[in-house]
Amino acid sequence: MLPELDRLIRLQQLDTATAEAQEAIEGIPTERAALDARLETRAADLDGARRRVSDHRTARQEAENALAQVQARLGRYKDQLMAVKTNKEYHAMQAEIAAAEGDVARLEDQVLEQMLQADELTAAVAAAEQAQSDERTAVEAERAALEERERALTAQTERHAEERAALVGDLPAPVAALFDTLTRGRKGLAVAEANEGRCMSCRVRLRPQLYNDVRLNRTLIQCESCQRILYYRGRPDVTAQQPS
Ligand SMILES: [Zn+2]
Repeated sequence: MLPELDRLIRLQQLDTATAEAQEAIEGIPTERAALDARLETRAADLDGARRRVSDHRTARQEAENALAQVQARLGRYKDQLMAVKTNKEYHAMQAEIAAAEGDVARLEDQVLEQMLQADELTAAVAAAEQAQSDERTAVEAERAALEERERALTAQTERHAEERAALVGDLPAPVAALFDTLTRGRKGLAVAEANEGRCMSCRVRLRPQLYNDVRLNRTLIQCESCQRILYYRGRPDVTAQQPS
């Protein structure tokens, strides 16, 4: 193979790999933000669970206070019952006592139910704490892997830049200039493989004579359609292998 073509192929590989690495590096802040968001979600879950316990405690305190008040009232009614003079007063007091006893029963049920709910709500806080702790461990591991990946990509990009500079230095200036021009105008792809009679980049069928020349890899040949520099890797022609 023509040494220049060999260098151009390598140059293209480096540029393609660097573009991919660059894109991956640019995506890292988004991935980092997604990890932060996961931790925020767990923290919000835990806050919610703790707030429900606190709200519940307030409601339970209110119910217990109300129960104590009704029980005190009931005690007073029972004392007063001893002191009533008339039958009418006695029946009126009995009715007050029955109503207060109804309130006591209702509030006692409420407090009992709240005690059962308290266990569930406390368990929910413990579960949210555990979930947060697990998520923190997972996120820390993913964050470390992300940073490792970023370091590796950056190091690779730097290595490629050095190799690229050496390669460009070895190319004749017009060839390096052609590569740069094509790269800028063709979405970073200046060198394309030819196979099965086509330019594999723009898919245009090459003239047979041109394709034969490309297959020799002895001169720099540009695709007549997309202008990219063509090379032939010599991989088996798939269509030729199929029995007809
Ligand atoms: Zn082409």
